[in-house]
Amino acid sequence: MIYYPALLATPVPRYTSYPTAADFHDRIGSADMAVALASVAHDAPISLYVHIPFCRQICWYCGCNTGNVGRGDRLAAYLDRLRAEIAVVAAHLGSRGRVTRIAFGGGSPNAVAAGDFAALLATLRTSFAAADALVSVEIDPRGFDAEWAAMLGRNGVTRASLGVQTFSPAIQAAIGRVQPQAMIESAVALLRDAGVTSLNFDLMYGLPGQRAADLADTLARAIVMAPDRLAVFGYAHVPQMISRQRRIDASDLPDSEQRFAQAALADRMLGDAGYQAIGFDHFALPHDPLAVAARAGRLHRNFQGFTDDDAVATIGLGVSAISAFADRLIQNDKHNGRYHAALDAGLFPAALGCHRDDDDRFRGQLITSILGQGHGDAGLLAADPDVRRRLAPFETAGLLRWHGTRIELTATAMPYARSVAAVFDRYRAGSAAGFSRAV
Ligand code: SF4
Repeated sequence: MIYYPALLATPVPRYTSYPTAADFHDRIGSADMAVALASVAHDAPISLYVHIPFCRQICWYCGCNTGNVGRGDRLAAYLDRLRAEIAVVAAHLGSRGRVTRIAFGGGSPNAVAAGDFAALLATLRTSFAAADALVSVEIDPRGFDAEWAAMLGRNGVTRASLGVQTFSPAIQAAIGRVQPQAMIESAVALLRDAGVTSLNFDLMYGLPGQRAADLADTLARAIVMAPDRLAVFGYAHVPQMISRQRRIDASDLPDSEQRFAQAALADRMLGDAGYQAIGFDHFALPHDPLAVAARAGRLHRNFQGFTDDDAVATIGLGVSAISAFADRLIQNDKHNGRYHAALDAGLFPAALGCHRDDDDRFRGQLITSILGQGHGDAGLLAADPDVRRRLAPFETAGLLRWHGTRIELTATAMPYARSVAAVFDRYRAGSAAGFSRAV
């Protein structure tokens, strides 16, 4: 892979949705959510995403909407409101939709006591007639214990994603997330023994003080543990937006060229270990449903990244959670107090979002296809002189080719996929403020 700094100079979104959350506005509210739920077809597959905005320890690099769990009463009050939201959504949905997946993220779902989590899952399954839904949960290895693992097993949870990030003790200290390898090994063993056999590891590159050798060591240790999937994300240092990142020493962050080399190293090592690259930052063993979906051209993208989930709508539950419907994206209030107040008033806590028209849907599918498969049919956009002009430098560098209206990235061009995709984002004409580096 060749590094062309000019082609990666502009920060770009990760495109977990299109339009992106940066393009949401506040002319969306409770009534929009009611209309969206009423439009769900009766047998349509839908997914639930449940946000737990608490962690037992806060990592300095974290950009998630989460806070320290502190005393248990805040968490108890939150779970009460979450149950109220589940009730109001289920009542509006009625018999429409068929919940096929439930994903818990955060924050750290395992900041919740095991018994309370089991009760929440039972409420979801009962309220949405979702007894057979595939359940996945994000896990913080710190504090994960045998009681939690057994609870997951008893409740039929089969997928978990562990926040690993790095095995280097020095880098763990530099990012405020100390979790010895033995702790991660223990979490993996507990999960597998409990029957949670589909595991993902989240890893990071571009961390303070991280050198290629550190990343290679982390990748080697992760490969030995054989997770089914890995996501390898570049650390986005934006302390002007995420104040907790001010604790990170920015003087020792890898530069753009080092970050590019680290992403390429992850791609090479995981490929050599038998993982299939899924888009630009996910990897899966060939038998994994994500890898199978990628080979079959059935890859989707949601707020958690690439997925094989073919639900036609995702309903986000909890503070800041985002719901995705064909014609609109709706984000719940990010502020706990307002989230609680809306539910107390019997309203959906919808605060931000946008409507999506045919053009948005077309561009969104094209962007997902470029990010996930490295190709896509640009249709009428292929004739847009501005698109051709902006993509010309990528063509000149040998990173992409046009075949009629189809665009195709070459084999080593995936690090540039986000930058190429951004050319088709009609909302990105000017500002790149607030986005992370392109690699
Ligand atoms: S455990 Fe995860 S969600 Fe919680 S602070 Fe750390 S990175 Fe953020």
